[in-house]
Amino acid sequence: KLHNQIQELRGNVRVFCRVRPTTSETAIVDCAPDGTSVELKRSDADVAGFEFDRVFGPSSTQCEVFDEVSQLVQSALDGYKVCLFSYGQTGSGKTHTMLGDQHNEETRGIIPRAVAKVVEASEANAKKGWKYRMCASYVEIYNEQVRDLLKAGSGHSDKHSIAHVDGVTEVSGVNKEPVESVEAAAGLVRRAAAARAVEATQMNAVSSRSHTIFMLYITGEHEASGSRLTGCLNLVDLAGSERVGRSGAEGARLKEACAINKSLSCLGDVFQALSNGQKHIPYRNSKLTYLLQPCLGGDGKTLMFVNINPEAPSAEESMCSLKFAAQVN
Ligand code: ADP
Ligand code: MG
Repeated sequence: KLHNQIQELRGNVRVFCRVRPTTSETAIVDCAPDGTSVELKRSDADVAGFEFDRVFGPSSTQCEVFDEVSQLVQSALDGYKVCLFSYGQTGSGKTHTMLGDQHNEETRGIIPRAVAKVVEASEANAKKGWKYRMCASYVEIYNEQVRDLLKAGSGHSDKHSIAHVDGVTEVSGVNKEPVESVEAAAGLVRRAAAARAVEATQMNAVSSRSHTIFMLYITGEHEASGSRLTGCLNLVDLAGSERVGRSGAEGARLKEACAINKSLSCLGDVFQALSNGQKHIPYRNSKLTYLLQPCLGGDGKTLMFVNINPEAPSAEESMCSLKFAAQVN
């Protein structure tokens, strides 16, 4: 009972912090042994502490991280609208956490593990009389324009509109492909990653300035009782959270950076409104928040990873990310 009350008070958003390993620089971020707090030490006199639902230190493995989100991921099979995303500056480990190395059993990240887990769990539920149909889309949002990563050669466009149908998000004109097996799912993820890799070399690292969203649609029907459910799982690798001023953006680049910052700040506004219990939640202010609306509010479930690069030169960005995340929590 008490646990339920705490859940209610805290809403449906949880925040995990993940600190990546250092390369050559000294680390200025410490993870406490309790597994729920971090300290950012900018100088002896300037130490800031933050608490999260869970903190993963530099030596945490992909497997350990997935173990902590596996239940949440599987709740999409019970009809929940679930979303997991990674927030942080470029180079902090967002893509490592969400995607990782898909070709490596040990270092693959949440997306390949999650789809495999959901397919596996749906097969187990079949023995209890549940029949599922699953399909997936994989999109990128860049400058408030959507691109279908499963349609080879397609670019960013305004033509894709977002709507909510039966409590789940539909993006018009975007491929929805069946996911009937772990292999089929892995194939989709590979294609999307390949589409992004081409872009990263051709288009000046658009990848760090765009959001990618893997969307899994799940419909289930119980054969005996006829009950139906609709769940979804959105796995989001957000654009880098670094601010424009610091990267010296100008002109067209500045416009891009503003649009990206716009959707990230809209995300912050939505969290703020939710935690204040406001009546009006400004989901419609960005493509990203409108797309994620079913997961962010109502009986949706959201988990945010704040990814941190613990090295000294990233101190300011780490501070911004930790503050953003602490406000969500
Ligand atoms: P982002 O997507 O936030 O820009 P990346 O995920 O690409 O950052 O990470 C930057 C680099 O650091 C990559 O080479 C990645 O493999 C490595 N890296 C990030 N997090 C970890 C981690 N927890 N363990 C090992 N390597 C990591
Ligand atoms: Mg990345």
